[in-house]
Amino acid sequence: MSHMLCQVCGESTFGRSDGRHLFLARAADGQQIAEGEKTTTPPVHEDCAAEAVRDCPHLRKGYTASLVEFAPAWGVAGIVYDPKTLKPLPCDDGLTFVSYGDSRIRWTLAARDAVALQGCTAVDLDELVARAAA
Ligand SMILES: [Zn+2]
Repeated sequence: MSHMLCQVCGESTFGRSDGRHLFLARAADGQQIAEGEKTTTPPVHEDCAAEAVRDCPHLRKGYTASLVEFAPAWGVAGIVYDPKTLKPLPCDDGLTFVSYGDSRIRWTLAARDAVALQGCTAVDLDELVARAAA
């Protein structure tokens, strides 16, 4: 994530002529990536995104794609521990997002880097892939 490597092929996603990065997210309800949204999911290349939506079971129920201008480091996703009991605090989906400015960061066992997506423009992935191939 910190080097903006494609989550499918592992190569750098820098190099688009517009300087943006393509992010793909599961979205069963069709909801688009929101401005400022935090994610631990690295960017993808257009061709790799087409492969992912075709073959990845996590994306079968729906997905959304967005071209993102800037994805600064925001914090981590991890397990937060209670400083008094030293036990992990309950969390709905396993990992809690904690910003670097949050006092809980010292009590968090980080599992993934999290970035904030800024300058998001929703894109039609099929259209984008077709345009790239032309
Ligand atoms: Zn790739």
